Amino acid sequence: MKDYKFSRTALRMKSSIIRELLKEAMNPGMISFGGGVPDPETFPRKELAQIANKVISEEYSYALQYCPTEGDHVLRKAYLEYLERADAITGLNLDNIIVTVGSQSALHLISEILLDEDSIYFVSKPIYLGAASAFALRSTNHEDLELQDDGINLDRLERRLAEIENAGEMNKVKFIYVIPNFHNPAGVSLSLEKRKKLIEIAEKYDLLIIEDDPYGELRYEGEHIPSLFKLAGKERVLMFRTFSKVLSPGMRIGLVIGHEDLVRKITQAKQAADLCSPSLTQRIAGRFLEKYDLRESLKPTIALYKMKKDLMLNELEKNFSDIPGIKWTRPSGGLFIWLCLPEGFNTLEMMEYGKKNGVLFIPGVAFTIDDSCENCMRLSFCLPPEKNIIEGVSRLKKTVVEYGKMKGLL
Ligand SMILES: *Cc1c(COP(=O)(O)O)cnc(C)c1O
Repeated sequence: MKDYKFSRTALRMKSSIIRELLKEAMNPGMISFGGGVPDPETFPRKELAQIANKVISEEYSYALQYCPTEGDHVLRKAYLEYLERADAITGLNLDNIIVTVGSQSALHLISEILLDEDSIYFVSKPIYLGAASAFALRSTNHEDLELQDDGINLDRLERRLAEIENAGEMNKVKFIYVIPNFHNPAGVSLSLEKRKKLIEIAEKYDLLIIEDDPYGELRYEGEHIPSLFKLAGKERVLMFRTFSKVLSPGMRIGLVIGHEDLVRKITQAKQAADLCSPSLTQRIAGRFLEKYDLRESLKPTIALYKMKKDLMLNELEKNFSDIPGIKWTRPSGGLFIWLCLPEGFNTLEMMEYGKKNGVLFIPGVAFTIDDSCENCMRLSFCLPPEKNIIEGVSRLKKTVVEYGKMKGLL
């Protein structure tokens, strides 16, 4: 192979083996609990088509032109108003919000502006893969906080921070990355009590919190929990929102809300990365927000996902309650259930059996940096139709039993 003299950063990049495995496993007749994407039937396509038509024919001089790096003012203004209506977040202006190409680009940009090679950052275990790969480009010094039923392990966070402070290395600690609602992949949420405690710890150690919240609006039951941003404010928290799970991932619109100094630095990094996000989809999203109440428009989506989530939990209960040591999360929102088999099971190995039985899941190792969580898997309930959820869970049971017997685990 030719030596293209790749950079050290490029040499650290690797493509996801899981993506390859998934591609290979997509036979006809396969029931997939793998996909982490929304159901296309939930996209408000009639409304968007109408708005797009109008925006292109009447607002072409803006929508088909370059736009400012920080984003379309119509969208940013409409989003700030939405934050005020939906979350009672007030006191912000256009200097506190920047539009990015999805939250993924925001993850990449903060990695650029905050991390050096020796920087330390806190993440959850399991971790959202997109965050792991964006951060790892700059620094591999991640500190893992195990996820519990009510969110990350804060005792460990406190212990590690105390140790790092004792070692005189606090200046290397850059941020803690949190997915507070319906975690991807784990499905759990950070409780209100823990949110308050986390903020206390962050204040004590002057730690920046990155709050990545793509799923907060997809709550199917229970009380809304105030965001870390709402609780602690822009000095302490940088909040990521995205339209990917609530409107359309193809529009590639993410929003970063935070302190003006952080937003300005992100803007500088974004100038070098892509000049600006697409003007067209920003203006369409902006006009959509002006015209429709996003929360109202999500009601049918929420009803659909809730039905599928309850069905999958029900089927899991029916099929797996006789397997000792198995457990799974019971999310009140979002797209994912995290299922852990007893020690000894290897879900990556088990994929072969799943493939033979016609069911697909994502093995837990895909969501770790240290190849742990090998007995766990992520199940997504949002895409398959109801009858496939029932059939798929029954195939999963068959797969677990076959594998378990073969390994002498059952
Ligand atoms: C889906 C998802 C995102 C969104 O990524 P986009 O780039 O906005 O499409 C961000 N964070 C998490 C945890 C996600 O699950």
